[in-house]
Amino acid sequence: MLRYGHLIGGRQVAPAAAWLDVFDPARAQPYAQVADGTADDVEAAVAAAEAAFPEWSGWPAERRARCLERLADLLESRADDFAHAESRDAGKPYALAREAEIPRAIANLRFFAHAATQFASECHHGQAGLNYTLRQPLGTVATISPWNLPLYLFTWKIAPALAAGNAVVAKPSELTPATATLLGGLLAEAGFPDGALGIVHGRGEVVGEALVTHPQVRAISFTGSTAVGRRIAGLAAPMLKKLSLELGGKNPTLVFADADWERHLDTLVRSALQNSGQICLCGSRILVERGIRHRFRDALVERVRALPVGDPMDPGVRVGPLVSQAHFDKVTAALARARTEGATVLCGGGALDRPGWFVAPTLLEGLGPDTATNREEIFGPVATLQSFDDEAQALALADACDYGLSASVWTRDLDRAHRLAARLRVGMVWINTWLMRDLRTPFGGTGASGLGREGGMEAMRFFTEPKNVGLALGPSLE
Ligand code: NAD
Repeated sequence: MLRYGHLIGGRQVAPAAAWLDVFDPARAQPYAQVADGTADDVEAAVAAAEAAFPEWSGWPAERRARCLERLADLLESRADDFAHAESRDAGKPYALAREAEIPRAIANLRFFAHAATQFASECHHGQAGLNYTLRQPLGTVATISPWNLPLYLFTWKIAPALAAGNAVVAKPSELTPATATLLGGLLAEAGFPDGALGIVHGRGEVVGEALVTHPQVRAISFTGSTAVGRRIAGLAAPMLKKLSLELGGKNPTLVFADADWERHLDTLVRSALQNSGQICLCGSRILVERGIRHRFRDALVERVRALPVGDPMDPGVRVGPLVSQAHFDKVTAALARARTEGATVLCGGGALDRPGWFVAPTLLEGLGPDTATNREEIFGPVATLQSFDDEAQALALADACDYGLSASVWTRDLDRAHRLAARLRVGMVWINTWLMRDLRTPFGGTGASGLGREGGMEAMRFFTEPKNVGLALGPSLE
């Protein structure tokens, strides 16, 4: 059986204690094992990172950038293997991994290779003299990433951290360790010094917490659930650590009667259900202007019913299984709760009768904004429909939950689009599109969706410490 070990000090290392099973979600069968890491494994990886930091941070930015570029090249040359590994590990459609997620991981590495050489700091020239700000790497930092977009989010964190000159200890999700481990195997060939990036596998409450509370880990970049984000914040705050938290979402999709919605139906379906709804940005609450609700609902139901569900390796499949037994149980329990709350099931509504953790793509209606179904993140192939009469009601429905990650607005009325974009209580708004990403833009949410922003120079700032230097200028220069 395949085994995914740690990467510590540039070497693949077996765990000090035990292994965990890794499952193929399309079959609900173990296909590999991953290191069940311990605090000792974290200790060893942090020690190796501390040892690598002086060399790595001392290199000119161009040299660090070349390592990231070479890593991107190596990943690109093996993109098929990585897409296969990702598809089997996470149960995601191969086509999605091959066409979107592995290319995005490559783009993350290239983008932050460039950012390393483009990053600039501030300079203030004034009556007080000249102030310039150094932006120095922090030292050893930790990244903790989830299972839904494994390599895409792993690289989204390690690339800026490394580009800024930090040494990194990364913890991928124990449910999806494959592609991070494969990438770790390419680091030496890409030219990274041993230990500059370590990977420690294992359970969150053991490895994750050992990283968060390790005194030499200066900052934690976390993407995952709001509950775990709160726990990490509670551990890190008394230690005064730098923290970036990208958490859950329950995003509204606002469809106005004047929208060109027929033309956008495919995107609207994707926005609700891509990756079986296991994307923090999925629009799981669809809000429709009352005048078009019947036509819109019927057209949407028809498209959703036609989605090809099945073996994620099949190139035509658009919807695969959920990632784990525990997540399958959570999503099916949420569907049972929706029924007790009075939901009408328009399509789907439960598990598929086949091996693996499959839930049929589901649309629900008849639930108000205060129901648990409309307030809590389900993170499965489940979206609800609600109707509104005017813009004010649409805004009130959109804001009627604690999350504030993203929203999409569908209308031909530009004034309305911009007005709503300014008022919606979220970190990101798309107008007549969804998940249109430019890696330079700030990425993140408000409220229960997290703290701080990733992306572009925001990430480079997070992974550096600003140090201001003030210099008196002679009177003739003032
Ligand atoms: P999770 O919070 O269970 O786990 C995320 C990571 O944290 C995993 O590596 C896990 O092992 C680790 N972890 C778990 N407990 C920990 C602890 N006590 N201390 C430290 N680390 C711990 O989340 P998940 O189920 O893997 O991912 C799904 C969640 O992630 C959803 O809520 C989704 O919305 C969110 N997400 C958010 C974004 C975003 O950018 N905002 C992106 C993707 C996913």
